[in-house]
Amino acid sequence: MLNLLIEIQKNKSLIKKEKRALKTVLNISVMKDLKKKFDDKKIHYIKLDKELKGIRKNIEITEKKINEVKDELEKDENKLYSNLKYDLKLIKSLEKSIESKKDEIKNMEDKSLEFMYEEEKISSDKKKNRKELVDLRNKFYEFKENGSKEILKVKEVIEKAEKDISNLEREIPEELLDEFNEISEAKGTGAAELYDGVCTGCKMKVSAITIDNIKKNKKIVYCDNCGRIVHCKYD
Ligand SMILES: [Zn+2]
Repeated sequence: MLNLLIEIQKNKSLIKKEKRALKTVLNISVMKDLKKKFDDKKIHYIKLDKELKGIRKNIEITEKKINEVKDELEKDENKLYSNLKYDLKLIKSLEKSIESKKDEIKNMEDKSLEFMYEEEKISSDKKKNRKELVDLRNKFYEFKENGSKEILKVKEVIEKAEKDISNLEREIPEELLDEFNEISEAKGTGAAELYDGVCTGCKMKVSAITIDNIKKNKKIVYCDNCGRIVHCKYD
């Protein structure tokens, strides 16, 4: 009969252990960490996207301005070459204007190239960032899915242990079971085996009287140190 009580205890401690494992499986902190990384990267991604849009706008504006100045330059050149009257003052002023427009165009083209270079760099950063975001998201869901599978397994173990407990309890007389449950509630475990006269519940040697009671095969014998059931005999 004592072995049934011990068996119940083993199942109860298994349930406790599995419930603790469940918390580790869920590993909330890892999930939170992944979520935070994802959110941070997303903020960065949006920032890069804004920067990219800004630079593309700059390129557009610069290119537009370059074309405008090119048009003006062409007009100046047309004026210069069609200036048949050979107006020296006009020629000089046109040449000066052409020169300055050429400089302006060159500066703007340099600027535009810089923007393009920057655009390329941010664009590649953005792509990299996007890939990292996708990876993080996949990792998060993979983790979640594996967690769910693991939870199912743990739940099965717990359910089996609970079923075993209720089957075992059916074989135990009510009086003994009540005693056992009461001691279990107070001490964590209600029954203990004896090894060489030492109680496995409290690791203390039981008294000669206790040993004697066991020899007499009494209905219930308790450890005289911790009060756990160390022997029971029911027909
Ligand atoms: Zn004891």
